[in-house]
Amino acid sequence: MPSYEDLEARAIDTGECTVCGACITACPDSHIKLTENTPRRPKRTVDCVGCHTCYDACYMLRHDLIKDIENSIMGWGRKETIGAYRRIVAARTKDTEIEKTCQDGGIVTTLLLYALDSGVIDGALVVGRDGWAPIACIASTRDEIIRAAGSKYGVVPMLKELRAAVVDRGLSRICVVGSPCHIQSIRYLKHKGLPLASAVKLTVGLFCRENYEYTCLVEKVGAKGLDINRVDKLDVSNEFNIYAGGKKLSLPIVEVKSCVPRHCLVCQDFAAELADIAIGSTGSAEGWSTVIIRTQEGEKVFAGMVKKRLVETKEIEDSVDVREIASRKKEKAKQTEETFTLRKRGLDKKEIAAILGITEERVSHRLDGV
Ligand SMILES: Cc1cc2nc3c(=O)[nH]c(=O)nc-3n(C[C@H](O)[C@H](O)[C@H](O)COP(=O)(O)OP(=O)(O)OC[C@H]3O[C@@H](n4cnc5c(N)ncnc54)[C@H](O)[C@@H]3O)c2cc1C
Ligand code: SF4
Ligand code: SF4
Ligand code: SF4
Repeated sequence: MPSYEDLEARAIDTGECTVCGACITACPDSHIKLTENTPRRPKRTVDCVGCHTCYDACYMLRHDLIKDIENSIMGWGRKETIGAYRRIVAARTKDTEIEKTCQDGGIVTTLLLYALDSGVIDGALVVGRDGWAPIACIASTRDEIIRAAGSKYGVVPMLKELRAAVVDRGLSRICVVGSPCHIQSIRYLKHKGLPLASAVKLTVGLFCRENYEYTCLVEKVGAKGLDINRVDKLDVSNEFNIYAGGKKLSLPIVEVKSCVPRHCLVCQDFAAELADIAIGSTGSAEGWSTVIIRTQEGEKVFAGMVKKRLVETKEIEDSVDVREIASRKKEKAKQTEETFTLRKRGLDKKEIAAILGITEERVSHRLDGV
């Protein structure tokens, strides 16, 4: 029966692990810890009973199931490049406190507060920060939710807090806010029937082109003469934007490409296709969020928030930007996957380029992430 060693060999050591934190939360005796930003069970843990719970919790090892999971959640209808959905709107918060700290339209934070106040949820897994280093946190009060507003760039094992949220904090109606990979992972845990996952009642996904290793970002920001702890906001659009002391410094994306982890290079999900609601800035004007409402649960909570007049909304005529980026991400990821496979077979860049019908320069881009 596969055990921790198999998880390590097949997901962690191969670089496929997205550091979602599910295996950490799944181990009933908390043997797996985050070590150098990777889930590891110490070599000499004699108490590990060699069960298969951590192995079973890893969605990356059962990626073939994702389509089935999507079909069971969203129905068997036509799926688009941005996934199945009911409607897309633009929205922004009316809460002046949220406006000050949120990333874009403040819809994630406003929605969490509404869901908490109306009893839909009793807490959420969110991402706080230490400096700008992202930290997985449990939030069950207004203050904790507002403190988590704003995007942090860096790999974060969001789901590692699920056990503490359920067992220590006694939460039973949890919202998971996360990148598309976090949302895929929690959907998988629910599909597998991990008891802890039944406490998750709502999922809010963030659009995501790619992520960056935090320590690498610190170096890039430092190289521009800035101390990351003095930065007010970080933001990625067509450039990597750093806001500090009332000034904005924009780095071409190519300058931070070497910080992108391997698992992001082959990730195909831009618009959090398995979330109840997916939210991002792409497709909307500055200060607004694009909101993709996918499920009945998502519709119910979004409509409730609108009815309470907590947000302003407007129709989006055509979400062409979101579709284009989603489609480009899928194409690029597929090509990168093929490039990695051919490289593993020992082919050089010229041979790979000939097989895939692309330039050698493009092969380098795929292999090196630039
Ligand atoms: C790594 C990353 C890449 C992104 N890339 C894109 C993109 O390419 N295009 C686009 O349109 N949008 C992208 N986004 C989403 C965007 O930055 C905003 O999060 C989104 O528009 C919601 O804005 P808001 O004002 O409603 O959120 P807020 O109200 O400010 O709330 C933000 C929420 O995000 C959560 N959060 C913060 N950092 C992380 C993290 N690292 N992982 C998981 N959850 C986190 C917090 O818990 C908080 O609840 C990205 C976000 C992240 C974290
Ligand atoms: S006890 Fe089971 S779940 Fe925990 S590390 Fe060992 S094999 Fe994995
Ligand atoms: S469950 Fe998540 S954190 Fe654990 S090995 Fe799999 S992808 Fe990595
Ligand atoms: S690109 Fe994919 S794997 Fe990387 S953080 Fe975004 S959703 Fe996760």
